[in-house]
Amino acid sequence: MSLVSIADLSRPISETYRAREEAEKLKDIFIAWHTRSQFSASKFEVYLDSTGGRSNGIHASESSGCMRPTVYSLRGTDKRAPEIVDPNMIMRFTLGKVIHAYIQHAWSCIAAESEGRITYEAEVPIHPGNSEIAKYWSIYSSCDGVIGLWDDDTQFARIGLEIKTQSDGSYTKMSKPDPKHLDQSTVYMKCLDLPLMWACYYNKSNSDVAISGEPYLFTYKEEIWEALEKRWTEQHQHALDGTLPERKTGMECSWCPYAWICDPEIPQFVLNKIKKQQQGKNNESELTRRYFAIRRRNSSNT
Ligand code: SF4
Repeated sequence: MSLVSIADLSRPISETYRAREEAEKLKDIFIAWHTRSQFSASKFEVYLDSTGGRSNGIHASESSGCMRPTVYSLRGTDKRAPEIVDPNMIMRFTLGKVIHAYIQHAWSCIAAESEGRITYEAEVPIHPGNSEIAKYWSIYSSCDGVIGLWDDDTQFARIGLEIKTQSDGSYTKMSKPDPKHLDQSTVYMKCLDLPLMWACYYNKSNSDVAISGEPYLFTYKEEIWEALEKRWTEQHQHALDGTLPERKTGMECSWCPYAWICDPEIPQFVLNKIKKQQQGKNNESELTRRYFAIRRRNSSNT
C-alpha cells in the first residue's frame, strides 16, 4: 500500500493509489494552515547565502542549460561574483529565498501540528558522504524538502518538495513543470529514493500555488535520469581532458560565477533587457558601458 521508494513505483497502481490520492491533498493542507491560529504566532529565518560557498561538483540546479559551469566546478575553478551587478536581479533572488523559507517554515509547522501524521525535513542534503550515487558523480545539492505521510507508525508516502517562484506572466502561461525543473527534481528523487515530487510553483503576484496533482505532482522517470548521466559523463570527460564544451549564453551569464574566465559574448537580447531595466535611471547605460569595458580589458589581457 505504500509509495515510499522508487522501487514501489513498479507495484500495481491499485496498491499505491491511496498514497497518490493523499499526496494530491498537499496543496489543500498548505492553504488550510494559513487559517489556523498558530500561523500568526510563528516566525521564520531567511538565509541569504550566495553560491560562493558551494562545493565543487555537480549541482542539481545546473542539470540543464549551459554545460560549462559544471565543468569549471569539477575542475575547481575559482568562483567570482559577477562584475556587472544587476540590483533588480538580486532583489528577485532575495524575494525567492524569502518565499522558499516561508513555505519550508509552513511545512515544518504543519508537521509539528499533525500529531505524527505528517513529517517534514527541510533542505535535505545530498553529497558524497551520504549517498553512493552522489559519491559516484560528485553531486552536492539539497532538496527543498521531503514530506512523509503516516498511518500510526507506518509511513505510506514520501514526496519531495521543490519550490519555484514565478512571475505572474510565466505562471499564467505555464501548463506543466518546466523541463529543467524536472531534470533538477530527478537528481533529488534518485539520490533520496523519492518516488513522488511536488513542483510547488508560487505566483509572486497573487500567491497562487500550483496544484499538488498531475502534472505538478509527478513520479520518478528513469529516462530523465539516463539523460542526466549522459550529460554528466560528457562534463566529467571535459574536466579530465582539460577541454570545455560550447558556451550556451543567456541571462544566466549575468550571474554566472565563471563569467570572469568564460568571457561570454552576451547576446543582444540580454543587453536590450539590461538597457530596458535601466531606462529612466541616472546611470541609463551604465551596465552596458561597464560590460564592454570589462570585455575590452579581458581581451587586452590575453
Ligand atoms: S558565463 Fe554563460 S556561457 Fe559562460 S559558463 Fe557561465 S553560463 Fe555558460
